[in-house]
Amino acid sequence: MDASGVPIARWRFAATPDPSRRHDADVLTRARVLTITDRCWCCRSKVRGVVGVLVEMSAGRRFVAFADIAEALASSADPRTLAARGIGPLRHRDSPGIQGGYVANGCLECDALIGRLGLDDMLDEHLRNGGTYGQLDCGLSLELEIPATSNWLQRAA
Ligand SMILES: [Zn+2]
Repeated sequence: MDASGVPIARWRFAATPDPSRRHDADVLTRARVLTITDRCWCCRSKVRGVVGVLVEMSAGRRFVAFADIAEALASSADPRTLAARGIGPLRHRDSPGIQGGYVANGCLECDALIGRLGLDDMLDEHLRNGGTYGQLDCGLSLELEIPATSNWLQRAA
């Protein structure tokens, strides 16, 4: 089944409430899941790592890094839906570089950690070479709930 039209997770943007705007409705929007193709350091399989999501609205577009949405993705995204797009299981993994580990991408074949810092470097390089966020759209989306009390939209230049 192709689940591309169905959001794979819901993520609520955490914001400091502004009491003066308490009666506004929250904004619900879609965010596109962005991935970069990497090669597993362990088994050399090709694997897609999630680097973040791109939110596009009339107010502008904004990139949200993987670290900010990792928990929501890991807890609600179906691993089979991710696997169909070449994305390995997202779960907490130990890391040699980050104490206590973190919710990380993994290899689809051998489940090795696909490090966040390495993916961030690849993203930087992609953008430096004139690449766009849109090119990294893997076809999956998640539902994003933005509290109306947040100044998130105004900052989405
Ligand atoms: Zn591997």
